[in-house]
Amino acid sequence: MRNDVSETSQNTHDKGTSGDWSPESWRTRLDPQQVLYPDRAAVDRAVMKLRSLPPLVTSFEIEKLKSQIAEAQQGKRFLLQGGDCAERLDDCRPEHITSRLKILLQMSLVLVHGLNMPVIRVGRFAGQYAKPRSSLTETREIDGQSRTLPSYFGDLVNGEAFEEAVRTPDPHMMVRGYQHAAMTINFVRALIDGGFADLHHPEYWDLSFFGSAALSEDGRRMYEAMSRELASALRFMENLGEKAVDDLTRVDFFTSHEGLNLLYESAQTRTVPRREGHYDLTTHLPWIGERTRALDGAHVEFFRGIRNPVGVKLGPKADPDEVVELVRYLNPSGEPGRLVLIVRMGVEQVGQKLERLLQAVDKAGSPVLWVCDPMHGNTRSTSSGRKTRSVDDIYSELAQSIDIHRRVSTRMGGVHFELTGEDVTECVGGAAGVTEHDLEQNYSTALDPRLNYAQSLELAFLLSDRFRSTRKDPK
Ligand code: PEP
Ligand code: MN
Repeated sequence: MRNDVSETSQNTHDKGTSGDWSPESWRTRLDPQQVLYPDRAAVDRAVMKLRSLPPLVTSFEIEKLKSQIAEAQQGKRFLLQGGDCAERLDDCRPEHITSRLKILLQMSLVLVHGLNMPVIRVGRFAGQYAKPRSSLTETREIDGQSRTLPSYFGDLVNGEAFEEAVRTPDPHMMVRGYQHAAMTINFVRALIDGGFADLHHPEYWDLSFFGSAALSEDGRRMYEAMSRELASALRFMENLGEKAVDDLTRVDFFTSHEGLNLLYESAQTRTVPRREGHYDLTTHLPWIGERTRALDGAHVEFFRGIRNPVGVKLGPKADPDEVVELVRYLNPSGEPGRLVLIVRMGVEQVGQKLERLLQAVDKAGSPVLWVCDPMHGNTRSTSSGRKTRSVDDIYSELAQSIDIHRRVSTRMGGVHFELTGEDVTECVGGAAGVTEHDLEQNYSTALDPRLNYAQSLELAFLLSDRFRSTRKDPK
């Protein structure tokens, strides 16, 4: 392999730095989610190991995604991002990987059809193993005694079982996380390269699926009719020699995760031959969570220096002026394709909060891609203590966001979902009518409730209809 085209350079922590930034400069800033590893020597060993391992993604792929996001910022593409809230190492199984891929591909087909534009597909997987928690510890009553242990921070850090040995953060989990991410991404790449995702053949990814996951008769008919219509439209356009078809049907797949554990992210951050600056090579699109986006915090410091496109979650507490500052700080040169703002206000607050945010950022003039995450502002607990979300609230936040964007003359250019291709019962509502009572049937998420297969596809249809019905609007 020629050295100049491979991502083989070492972590050159002294090269390509911008100003006083380096892949380690975050260490001097506050990390509100910092993991307290008891064994520092073991942390150093894990980090050294990660530094020596090959990257999970390449700068070529990252730059390609950045240019596609830049096109989405101009209204020429739409971004679909989805996957588990917390991916588990055990999820690195062929059925789980293919079912997530299938649902994202099916949703993207529905969106390509409804929006009449290419969709950028981004999985929340192959590394979505680190979770922020509102409390660093968890207390449970066991045999009449109160017991406090570290919270579960995701499989990159510790285990779920409420036992001291399992909950104690173990740095070697970072190496295991890397290995499972590598196996996941390897299988996804092989499937995509092998033609599994060819939009001309949606039957590859739906046949066995309809048998195993519940979809209403109506939903199934709608999907089948739409995929037949799309396949024949594609053949027709190809017969006419339309070049754009290729762009519409070429399937790229990108990965993303919350870049929460900065030891893991920075260990895989390096310069590459013939390009400026550093790339975080654990994933294509890392994002900063709602809890770690402080301007002077460790995460913003790390993210400002990497060349990847970067996502930032924005909840109802996000102050418009502060967000404008964040945009400037993370993208001082106004580079197209660099910033994705993932807004998660919740159905109750989106009406009051989104408009001012859009106006402030729009006025500042730096390009951003606005994405709606209708999941994280809509989590609630049932009387039996289960976390759930309602499909109605999720759709309402999406619909309101589309309208508010239209009013402000900005554009909702993407969506971010927590979903699974399986038949879980974690969110309520949808055509199949999952009720609170049904939640016990198949509730298996490690943290937040996910849309199941039918709910995900249904939302893609609703969204697509909403966009179709308003497409002819001047704005
Ligand atoms: C998440 O995406 O799972 C998450 C924790 O999101 P947020 O940072 O928006 O709360
Ligand atoms: Mn979540």
